[in-house]
Amino acid sequence: MNFCVLKFGGSSLATPELRRLVAQRIIDKAASGCDPVVVVSAMGRAGDVYATDSLIGFIRSTNASPDPQNLDLLLSCGEIISAVVMAETLNQLGCRAQALTGGQAGIVTDQGFGSARIISIDPKAVIQACAQKVIPIIAGFQGQTSSGKVTTLGRGGSDITAVAIAAALDCPVVEIYTDVDGVKTADPRLIPDAPTIEELTYGEIIELAHLGAKVVHPRAVEIAMEAGIELRILSTVQGGLGTTITAGGGGKKRGTQIADRVVTGIAHLTRRAHVKISGPADFNESELTLQIFDLLARSHISIDLIYLSPQLIAFIIDDEKADLVKQVLAGLGLNITVENGYAKVSVVGAGMHGVPGVMARVVRSLEKADVPIFQTTDSHANISCLIREDDLLAAVRALFAEFELSKEG
Ligand code: ADP
Ligand code: MG
Repeated sequence: MNFCVLKFGGSSLATPELRRLVAQRIIDKAASGCDPVVVVSAMGRAGDVYATDSLIGFIRSTNASPDPQNLDLLLSCGEIISAVVMAETLNQLGCRAQALTGGQAGIVTDQGFGSARIISIDPKAVIQACAQKVIPIIAGFQGQTSSGKVTTLGRGGSDITAVAIAAALDCPVVEIYTDVDGVKTADPRLIPDAPTIEELTYGEIIELAHLGAKVVHPRAVEIAMEAGIELRILSTVQGGLGTTITAGGGGKKRGTQIADRVVTGIAHLTRRAHVKISGPADFNESELTLQIFDLLARSHISIDLIYLSPQLIAFIIDDEKADLVKQVLAGLGLNITVENGYAKVSVVGAGMHGVPGVMARVVRSLEKADVPIFQTTDSHANISCLIREDDLLAAVRALFAEFELSKEG
């Protein structure tokens, strides 16, 4: 069989017109001689009736902290509705299709409700459908434990479903259809004319995605990298070549060589809270530091931009966790301040390793734009700065100009 895995995000499925366009793309694929395997997200965005955020809001209006297993069962319905609606859109157009839940598609996960990890996939139902020329439409973002409990994979998890299914089917390419025509050098919501990066390496997109460019889920890219699957990020509406993501060095590069780019793109994360902890005594001489990090880990609070000194421990968190952090650390007798309203902005590029002066350019351009930096961190392929959320647009614009990211990649 000649499988091709196509994933459609929620904004691509929001209206009947869009769903017919999606159906047409699927029909065209089938006509070109491949066996489409389709993965869909919940229809629409926050505010739309079956979107994930709407389902969360709905259940929280009943109980502010629902049982995780119940919550996953509810959230899985968004994608199931989407899969059924897409299958029936295709059936209506005379193209046979069958909706499958994640569990029916053979996706087995661990028990981590809300952010479950895929353990194994047995795609026999998918293969069976394709063999009978019925197009499987798989509900993304979900799986099932070995004992049959429905789980979800975390926000953006449909990307993971698509790539994991492709790996199980030994399919070499996954096409991810979304509302932008590829990965841009900055979030187009902030920089509307940011150009599309035609080619990216797995490493670069993982970095961008972890640092906030939510165009594709980083875990999906990791699975693609392990399985050697090529990813294409494409626009449902606009068509075009989009962004191709590979290990690099394929020799068919268009435009700039990947290794030549010092900075490939800018990513950002909003809604960060800055936590500062000062102790009664020297942190170096107590078990307190360990205790703090253990308590945070046990409450599943992930921390970032960590700063440690004998007098101060600082880090940032998702601001949704601000109250939880205060609760969790309350008993330790420490001075804790948690301040909302921060953002993390990062420049990313595999080519910055060993290039002197990148940090100086980041600092100087932010300074010129009157953006105070509260903390920085860097790796071989990125530099991140903690700034006030109110300064985000100014910061992204300044870095975009400094690193000449308006040029076509
Ligand atoms: P989908 O519902 O299709 O999964 P997402 O909302 O998850 O779509 O991802 C697409 C969005 O990612 C775009 O609308 C865009 O605002 C955002 N985004 C953030 N950074 C980037 C970037 N560097 N390039 C493209 N899109 C980006
Ligand atoms: Mg997404």
